[in-house]
Amino acid sequence: MSIADNIHRINAELAGTAARLCVVTKTHSVELLEEAYAAGARVFGENRPQEMAAKQPQLPPDVEWHLIGQLQTNKVKLLAPFVHTIQSVDSLKLLREINKHAAASRRVINCLLQFHIAREETKSGLSMAEAEAILADVEFSHLTHVRITGVMGVATFTPDEGQLREEFQQLRGYFERLKSAHFAESEAFCDISMGMSGDYRLAVAGGSTIVRVGSAIFGSRG
Ligand SMILES: *Cc1c(COP(=O)(O)O)cnc(C)c1O
Repeated sequence: MSIADNIHRINAELAGTAARLCVVTKTHSVELLEEAYAAGARVFGENRPQEMAAKQPQLPPDVEWHLIGQLQTNKVKLLAPFVHTIQSVDSLKLLREINKHAAASRRVINCLLQFHIAREETKSGLSMAEAEAILADVEFSHLTHVRITGVMGVATFTPDEGQLREEFQQLRGYFERLKSAHFAESEAFCDISMGMSGDYRLAVAGGSTIVRVGSAIFGSRG
């Protein structure tokens, strides 16, 4: 199946659900991104700031660029002029830096709070207590150039569907709690980014609004 076939198939599966497709383009050449764009993809996810910044000027301006990997504070300025959403926010320090560079670019940058939902120790992300601490911090209320638009999580790499369902349910629970405690008035707080090539159908069934799919579109990254 071609890249276009894969994108069309996944978009057809998502039609009628709450979820939209973020095509994970990391490691792939601009040529392949152009192929995805031609097939209708408009949301691209990259995990390395330098790679995203190098590709962005080579694609049409209506691409929504989402950062999905860990972001060091010294790399924020590379992305601030164009990034649509930073899905991997895991500290107040990072929000402060995004806010500063977004202000310098006269922009407001969408941010998802990344939660730790996997049982693997290695996968990063916040606990609920850490997220609450960020949102309760008086400094957070002064950050006018970041907009928290939801939550993101990476599930355990496992074929165990029961476990995956639990992890997706956990992230959805975090979303609901934050929504009612902090964002009840915010229409912008609406996204739950969960689901990858191996588990996006379960994630969509569990309430995902953004699935991040790479290898099911481009093949394995080798
Ligand atoms: C690479 C990556 C994906 C896509 O993974 P696939 O299994 O290739 O679909 C999704 N989310 C994050 C955070 C990633 O790093």
